[in-house]
Amino acid sequence: MNKVLAVGQYSDIDVAALTDEFGARPLDDLSQIADLSPALRAEVTAIAYKGHHPLNGAVMDLLPGLKLIANFGVGYDAINVTDASARGITVTNTPNVLNDDVADLAVAMLIMEARKLTASENWMRDGKWPAGGAYPLARKMSGRKVGVLGMGRIGREIADRLAAFKCEIHYQSRSRKDAPSGWTYHADPVELARAVDDLVIAVVGGPETEGFVSAAVIDALGPDGIIVNIARGSVVDEAAMLDALEQGRLRGAALDVFRAEPNVDPRFLTLPNATILPHVGSATVETRAAMGDLQRQNVRAHLAGQALVTPVN
Ligand code: NAP
Repeated sequence: MNKVLAVGQYSDIDVAALTDEFGARPLDDLSQIADLSPALRAEVTAIAYKGHHPLNGAVMDLLPGLKLIANFGVGYDAINVTDASARGITVTNTPNVLNDDVADLAVAMLIMEARKLTASENWMRDGKWPAGGAYPLARKMSGRKVGVLGMGRIGREIADRLAAFKCEIHYQSRSRKDAPSGWTYHADPVELARAVDDLVIAVVGGPETEGFVSAAVIDALGPDGIIVNIARGSVVDEAAMLDALEQGRLRGAALDVFRAEPNVDPRFLTLPNATILPHVGSATVETRAAMGDLQRQNVRAHLAGQALVTPVN
């Protein structure tokens, strides 16, 4: 009897842990659920999900006994939580264990873009140093005014790191936070962008923040600004950002996430003023192990009839 489906591209370690402990049935993607017989689908009470494809009510209805969707990741915008709640299904995620890695990456990306680290390394690897002399000057990153859009768990870790780089911290969230003195709260993203040099996006994805970083926010940041996005591609008006980058109305962008990932808009691939990474925010051995562990804690609690560890609804 397979009460648990392990849906998604898991590492060998994670899939072994899910199958050994819970007898989980591994599936590569959500579309394979419909291929299971009605009898097998009726056994399932939990999905351990790892992926970004939409998991909505139509999928949930294939599994009449479903009670838990345990997401591998803190961002659960792919899961329709309203549909889940309406069906008595609890969604869990993996918060906090990835904060350090994602915040480290955000700061690293801001430095990479400001200091042109990828371009200067490529220039050296291409053998241009001996003939070309010194690499062109980049720009300073420490001491800039930086806006953090979304002062949640990861946003706070980013702001703490940037403060150590002598940056002046500004932020926008739905509510003012208990932040260190000197950090400035802004009520809306345009006001935030107008007040700062660079903008780091750490807000949730999904319909409520769709296009939050609009053309108006990009214009307010201006031609000296860098946008860092470690949140979700959906948060940014990507076409407006590409136009601004190409036309010099935005100095740079450092992006770990994209709207149509992994099929990134090809305009990004040739931009000299964009640092682009393939969604690697939490992609370390240590953090992925911790995320898998937390996901399994939730599945374990569900199967034992105990309180879930990190429910979101
Ligand atoms: P969090 O603690 O829940 O913080 C989310 C932030 O988004 C909070 O500041 C919150 O505002 C804001 N927010 C939530 N709903 C909103 C809405 N409807 N309108 C405006 N603002 C809203 O989440 P987290 O753990 O920091 O994670 C943040 C996001 O990072 C995740 O959702 C995920 O998409 C992304 N992420 C990316 C990677 C990666 O690999 N690149 C890895 C992990 C996470 P308040 O402060 O007012 O509540």
